[in-house]
Amino acid sequence: MTFSELGVGAEVLQAITDLGFERPMPVQEAVLPILLNSETDLIALAQTGTGKTAAFGIPTIQNLDYTNPYTEAVILSPTRELCVQIANDLTNYAKYIPSCTVVPVYGGASIELQKKALKKGAKIIVATPGRINDLLRRKYIDLSHVRWAVLDEADEMLDMGFKDDLDFILAQTPEDKHTLLFSATMPDEVARIASNYIHNPKEVTIGVRNSGSANVRHCYYLVQAKDRYLALKRIADYYPSIYAIIFCRTRSETQEVASALIRDGYNADALHGDLSQAQRDHVMERFRCRNLQMLVATDVAARGLDVSNLTHVINYNLPDEIEQYTHRSGRTGRADKTGISIAIVNLRERHKIKAIEKIIKKKFEQVPVPTGMDVCEKQFYNLIAKVERVEVNYDEISKFVSEVVKRLEWMDKKELISRFVSLEFNRFLEYYRNSPDLNVAEKEEKAKIEKKKSKVQHNDVGMARLFFNLGYDDKILPQRLIGLINDTCDNKDIKIGKIDIMERFSYVDVDGFYANDIIEAFHGETYRRKPLIVEAANAKKAGNDKKSRRRSKGNDIDKKTAKESRSNKKGDKKSKGNNTSDKKKKRKRVQYK
Ligand code: AMP
Repeated sequence: MTFSELGVGAEVLQAITDLGFERPMPVQEAVLPILLNSETDLIALAQTGTGKTAAFGIPTIQNLDYTNPYTEAVILSPTRELCVQIANDLTNYAKYIPSCTVVPVYGGASIELQKKALKKGAKIIVATPGRINDLLRRKYIDLSHVRWAVLDEADEMLDMGFKDDLDFILAQTPEDKHTLLFSATMPDEVARIASNYIHNPKEVTIGVRNSGSANVRHCYYLVQAKDRYLALKRIADYYPSIYAIIFCRTRSETQEVASALIRDGYNADALHGDLSQAQRDHVMERFRCRNLQMLVATDVAARGLDVSNLTHVINYNLPDEIEQYTHRSGRTGRADKTGISIAIVNLRERHKIKAIEKIIKKKFEQVPVPTGMDVCEKQFYNLIAKVERVEVNYDEISKFVSEVVKRLEWMDKKELISRFVSLEFNRFLEYYRNSPDLNVAEKEEKAKIEKKKSKVQHNDVGMARLFFNLGYDDKILPQRLIGLINDTCDNKDIKIGKIDIMERFSYVDVDGFYANDIIEAFHGETYRRKPLIVEAANAKKAGNDKKSRRRSKGNDIDKKTAKESRSNKKGDKKSKGNNTSDKKKKRKRVQYK
């Protein structure tokens, strides 16, 4: 079908032809005939990069009445970057309809300039929920004549906590308007909330519901948590042309991983909420124009980034909300390109892979982490390929080359190649010469966990004492330990009792019922890069405890102990609080890596 057969009018047709659109994309083929020929609510499940902006943008432009001056369409998007992009796209599609004015309003930019633009008239407003809410309350925007409302990336908007804003904004629009909801995923929660806004919708699904792109290969590497960063480096070295987003769970982890990559000589940078808007724009621009190969980002910060030719998405840590995985992996494999989505997981996290498989309706492949030699081989042939492809400016270098040929006459071809290649290749050989195998030997790891578990003893009130190899020297406090346990164990209702912190280790009394789960959860984990040891406290450790006290600085440690036992009580309360606190609070993670 052509755009014109789908019902696209002459002006818009000319504009999209100018943009080089020749044939409609699948989401456009499905949505355009519905919206150009009937007035209806609609839910469309489609990923970014599928052409969805034109799918809702073209009918919006075509269905408005340009004989009146009112705002007749409002399009809501979760981030300012997407908002600006949609406004630009719509302005392009409407370039031959002069009275179709499109005004973007979004946070982080001058509200005064936006007010001025609105005053001149806005047939279509494209907005982020926070800023439009603000402008509505100040009465700079009137949505009482709106006939079309579009919620783009609705799942993201709801996920980002904009539900109240959406309620307020849509309450300012007429009841009989039509609402279009575009979303990459449709978790039950989003479907339930969406049903408040949408009535008798037509439904369009591009690809499988909640599935990722068909062009994405999903792989996981099974490593110990302490080897996560080393595994990441192997991946980066194994794919020398990598152009990837590396997703982390927290801002501090994002910064830590990016700093480590930069320190180790990789072309990487961080993108997270602690950066100013100007810094974020700068990083994103460098990444967009490929001056950066790897962007280490949090989910929220990466939302505004539209890059369509990523080779890899790397889940340095899988997201807490596994639905988020679809968004992450959907950033590669766009526009008919193939992509790889990699998850670096430890034994304990493997169940998440199964849960994600159910959502994306695709299997993950378990791929062995490349060995040092695999990386060296790959780098070697990559270098040779570069030599084959390099452009040589014979005229300009000929006079030097003749001189060099004479000088190197004593070498044969093999010797010459070996030496040139070694120039670049030696650093890899050196780094990887004795590198360990990062793949987890599952049986051995499981046996180690079982051994630790077997030592757990419960006291008469059902508590068990655990040993942690973290103490004052690691700047650990009772609250931090409780946070660590909450964060590391999926179960947040574990009762925690007495906590004793020594110089180099600590004892924590925990509900005996969960002691083994805690031991297992901490197996292979790290705290500030230090491999953690958590096991049943036993007599031998108690001996160490006394020695440690003796070795410590007398009064000083006593003061600390007193202080800790005071805050320990707070910690106790805190842990009890955890039993009853609301779901959101429970989900909040303590940043510790
Ligand atoms: P979107 O999913 O709306 O962000 O679109 C992804 C990209 O595809 C954008 O760069 C659009 O300009 C482009 N695009 C959308 N529709 C078409 C089409 N029919 N033909 C070629 N490119 C398109």
